[in-house]
Amino acid sequence: MFSDYIDIFYMTAAALFIFGLKYMNHPDTARKGNLLSAGAMLMAILVTLLDHEVVSYGMIVAGLVVGGVAGVVWARIVKMTDMPQMVAIFNGFGGLASWLVAYSEISRLTPNLDHFTTVVLVLALLIGGVTFSGSMVAFAKLQGLVGGAPTLFKGQHLLNAILGVVVLALGAVLLASPGAWPLFVLVGLIALLLGVLLTIPIGGADMPVVISLLNSYSGLAVAMTGLVLSSPVLITVGSLVGAAGLILTKVMCDGMNRSLTNVLFGGFGTEAAEPGEVPVAAEGGEGQPKSATVDEAVAMMKAAKSVIIVPGYGLAAAQAQHAVREMGDLLAKNGTTVKYAIHPVAGRMPGHMNVLLAEANVPYPQLFDMDDINDEFEETDLSIVIGANDVVNPAAKTNPSSPIYGMPVLDVEKSKQVIVLKRSMNPGFAGIENELFLMDNTVMVFGDAKETVNGFVTGLAGK
Ligand code: NDP
Repeated sequence: MFSDYIDIFYMTAAALFIFGLKYMNHPDTARKGNLLSAGAMLMAILVTLLDHEVVSYGMIVAGLVVGGVAGVVWARIVKMTDMPQMVAIFNGFGGLASWLVAYSEISRLTPNLDHFTTVVLVLALLIGGVTFSGSMVAFAKLQGLVGGAPTLFKGQHLLNAILGVVVLALGAVLLASPGAWPLFVLVGLIALLLGVLLTIPIGGADMPVVISLLNSYSGLAVAMTGLVLSSPVLITVGSLVGAAGLILTKVMCDGMNRSLTNVLFGGFGTEAAEPGEVPVAAEGGEGQPKSATVDEAVAMMKAAKSVIIVPGYGLAAAQAQHAVREMGDLLAKNGTTVKYAIHPVAGRMPGHMNVLLAEANVPYPQLFDMDDINDEFEETDLSIVIGANDVVNPAAKTNPSSPIYGMPVLDVEKSKQVIVLKRSMNPGFAGIENELFLMDNTVMVFGDAKETVNGFVTGLAGK
């Protein structure tokens, strides 16, 4: 009787996922979207548990306990700057789950496999395997367990192409002889190898884009599993993740003005200078940066009627978000108009700055996307650049030979005065110098962003 209604519950959960995703479109409703999606997932799990096909509740409870505890502990200890690694692991486990479900279905159905199921199982093994091993390589690179530099060898692309063709050929043989299950094992192993081979040539600095792509793959793997198990909820959720991951990958590539092919095969960012490689320019002279003390910077802030704060990766690295919120609050209290300019690829993961500033309770109405605020710099008294570099580099507009030429950037240099907070003259992710730091209207306040902003807070509060 209950089984008659199972699909209705699954479809309801799938619909709730779609609404959840819609709510996640805006920071104001994102929490609601998250809760709705989590509720939908709970409903889908409960309905599955009540299904008569469950073999062992003991195993399920054990899995829930192990997974639940690991998830809670991880979520609590992970640092905001380590979030890309965590997402990589999540994607990887999604791929592994699809890979394992495919094998379980192969052992259950062989040799009674129809053509459709065979194709879907080969795809589930291929996409799941690539997602799992590729995500593990991405995790290892970001975590520093292996070197971040691309690993390239002669004939790499040819080898990948040959392995792809072998998988297709194995699929064709399996269609003709559905009982040849060892070939499925071979497909799964080749998929794991392909995941490694496709990810090692990509530089560690480009990993966030790759992770977003792997996220999309993990969705496709789940959708394939849904097709294998005839589960509408898995098909819907997998397709949503697949599409969302793909859109995110495109947004990131557009924000960096690079094609996906360039990210996957270009090795960009791999020759970035290590800290200390670029000499700190001597103080003062023409074409040299002017540095200011914390007190001088505070005086500039007190005099400004309008301020735009531009956060970047250095703010995340310094964990300066709470200090920055305090600074913004004090400026607003002094009667200054305060806005935050958010570049789509500031930081090291999509939405990095939004997440950090939201964590520090910066009011959403003060946050502006690049396209919405770029015209305002010209009218602004003071821009405060906190640990941002590439996303404010005017070379992206003026120097056709620059590696970032064409990347949309924040027009910070147009504001009347600019204060830049960073520790040295070292370049950012792209490894290139930034003429903004040498401009007449710019002063540098060198030091760790959190310490510097704390100094600003003390100065503004008149403590
Ligand atoms: P950048 O990497 O260009 O610059 C960050 C700056 O922060 C550095 O110049 C560094 O200078 C400074 N910094 C580091 N630590 C501190 C600290 N503790 N205190 C103060 N300053 C510090 O960052 P942006 O955010 O401007 O640009 C992001 C870059 O990352 C872009 O090139 C983008 O394409 C790329 N990227 C972004 C992704 C995303 O999804 N957001 C994904 C992949 C790449 P110093 O060492 O002198 O302190």
